Amino acid sequence: MTPTDTDLLLVVDVQNDFCPGGALAVPRGDEVVPLINRLAEKFPHVALTQDWHPAGHLSFASSHPGRQPFETITVVYGPQILWPDHCVQGTAGAEFHDGLDLPRAELVVRKGFHRTIDSYSAFFENDRRTPTGLAGYLRERGLERVFLAGLALDFCVRYSAEDARAHRFDVVVIEDACRAIDLDGSLQATRQSLATLGVALVRASEVAAV
Ligand SMILES: [Zn+2]
Repeated sequence: MTPTDTDLLLVVDVQNDFCPGGALAVPRGDEVVPLINRLAEKFPHVALTQDWHPAGHLSFASSHPGRQPFETITVVYGPQILWPDHCVQGTAGAEFHDGLDLPRAELVVRKGFHRTIDSYSAFFENDRRTPTGLAGYLRERGLERVFLAGLALDFCVRYSAEDARAHRFDVVVIEDACRAIDLDGSLQATRQSLATLGVALVRASEVAAV
């Protein structure tokens, strides 16, 4: 599974708010940073996503009086989990983790910047219709296979993997370069979904000598 010139490593949401001490910390989320740095050296192409919300974003529990983080509400595009305020544009929490060292990264995809739509996936916002532009970017660049790493395995990595498959890209999730939130069985649901879609879950050592 050695990375080739049509492979991209997509590093999902390795931002301060998703790491320990952040507003929406993924347990042990910071542990992925050194491994991702080493993996990135083995890939010809690297891109990152960055959750990037305006203040008062629809996905914030604080935008819905009487609601608490991790409750689910129904919005125009379906169910929406409410989160603590996180990754607000221009704040330290929205910045990439300090230890992330990806000097060759070619693209940063910002997502979640529409106030009334959340965006887990690197490809579509949560209405499943509003594109981020990443699919077109990959096609124009001739990139065919997407390797995913980052946070959180059972939300933004999962949705990115599913949408990449929907766009007919080959997809590999590097599991030990991800960490999960595991909210109400979300990690098991992720494994089932990815298996059904033919998304390979591998360890970093299967991709490269890291
Ligand atoms: Zn978010």
